[in-house]
Amino acid sequence: AKVLSEFFKNQPRPEKPLKVAIVGAGLAGLSAAKYLVDAGHQPVVLEARDVLGGKVAAFQDEDGDWYETGLHIFFGAYANMMNLFSELGIEDRLQWKCHSMIFSMASQGKPGEFSRFDFPEIPAPWNGLVAILRNNDMLTFPEKIQFGLGLLPAIAFGQKYVDEQDGVSVKDWMKKQNVPDRVNDEVFIAMSKALNFCDPDELSMTVVLTALNRFLQERHGSKMAFLDGPPNTRLCQPMVDYIEQRGGEVRMNTRIKSFELMDDGKTVDKLALVDGTEVDADAYISTAPVDILKLLLPDQWKSMQYFKGFDPLEGIPVINIHIWLDRKLSTVDHLLFSRSPLLSVYADMSTTCKGYADDKSMLELVFAPAKDWIGRSDEDIIEATMGELERLFPGEIKASESGEDGDARYAKIKKYHVVKTPRSVYAAYAGTGDIRPTQRTPIDNFFLAGCFTKQKYLASMEGALFSGKLAAEQVCLADKASRIPKKKAVQAAA
Ligand code: FAD
Repeated sequence: AKVLSEFFKNQPRPEKPLKVAIVGAGLAGLSAAKYLVDAGHQPVVLEARDVLGGKVAAFQDEDGDWYETGLHIFFGAYANMMNLFSELGIEDRLQWKCHSMIFSMASQGKPGEFSRFDFPEIPAPWNGLVAILRNNDMLTFPEKIQFGLGLLPAIAFGQKYVDEQDGVSVKDWMKKQNVPDRVNDEVFIAMSKALNFCDPDELSMTVVLTALNRFLQERHGSKMAFLDGPPNTRLCQPMVDYIEQRGGEVRMNTRIKSFELMDDGKTVDKLALVDGTEVDADAYISTAPVDILKLLLPDQWKSMQYFKGFDPLEGIPVINIHIWLDRKLSTVDHLLFSRSPLLSVYADMSTTCKGYADDKSMLELVFAPAKDWIGRSDEDIIEATMGELERLFPGEIKASESGEDGDARYAKIKKYHVVKTPRSVYAAYAGTGDIRPTQRTPIDNFFLAGCFTKQKYLASMEGALFSGKLAAEQVCLADKASRIPKKKAVQAAA
């Protein structure tokens, strides 16, 4: 990560900086712009909404309370993210938790109890192995051995084997490797929901093996941190300040309508905006999510193999929920895996996050898989969530008593927000890994970034950031090789 960051700073200053128009001010777009200014170019980021961050965007309600698009966790394995925090001088905003993974035992008939994987301070992979061997609540010793045997080909053949498992779902892989069903039920339903908001019968095994690889190879790979407040103000805004202080620009409320092509029917001439204006640049990077990108593609490109290839990719639905309660629950200062049918991970943000600290609980929960719920009303979703919370907080939450007139022994809901993202990160179903597009496209002045594009991290914040960096690198390399078609002189925005 550091070497690639240095690549940008060490580029000879361009005689004529390129104006690079970047679609989207999510992490991929801001990352591409950040590294392009480092290389001496002039990015202009065009964001459709009035809020930074895309899938990490957060909003303030009428009481001034923040609610987010998703509960976001930063892992120690996020090398590019850690490097960025250090470059921006904001490392102290990451609130690291103890090196553990904590699973609720509620669905296993032990409401209110947790099972922990505690990673000791010894080198990887030994810390991971000790964590697994010491936990006897979730898997028996023979089950751990059978799972370990199943993993032998991944250990022996490394990344090649991991990539070859793309077409196999997690559940089918378990069957193929003779891993007992209970391993899937106890661990991998929760893992699949946390990694990609879907179940193990759909998720590509490559995704799980890639995550395990990162977690087991790096001593602090699975260590988790919460940001100390909303991602737009605590992470995206410092990126914008950095970009603008160095000659770049970030424009909000600027939605791209189409890519306008030159007479060759291939090269991008300019961007047409929905407000009727245009933006002219030397090079263009789209970081729009894959579903939107497919709608923006010019007809002339649609028959090209590169663009046709990723047509099956699409975003997966997910719902993020915030519930403010009238009292402090007995909570744990960490991310928790609910292992409940409707919920994925959750945290009491009034405890885990400095920016949201309070003497009353505010739960943030990811609701997944969400395909059957995305069209339902907020009231239905909250009712179903409270039913699950009853098992996670026995004696403290009772769904039927959570209204104002409910039994005083149980917590009352003060307010809630439900954020639905019908198409979030790309659905990493079996067979989708191979069709993720590269950052370099067959169009000489058009590049792609976004967490769905090909990079060794998953559809994650790290993946988005890294993809932006890779796209910026491709722009620099294309400039060096004089591949970017010469157009009019660099102008200020049209
Ligand atoms: P986006 O964030 O989607 O950015 C694309 C931007 O393009 C948006 O701002 C959008 O408004 C803009 N745009 C779209 N169309 C146009 C247009 N026509 N003109 C101009 N702009 C346009 N990752 C983790 O690492 N850890 C986690 O714990 C985690 N939890 C998550 C929980 C949830 C509920 C969700 C939804 C995601 C989570 N993620 C997590 C994934 C992470 O948020 C994403 O991978 C990452 O933020 C994607 O960034 P991106 O820049 O690729 O795309």
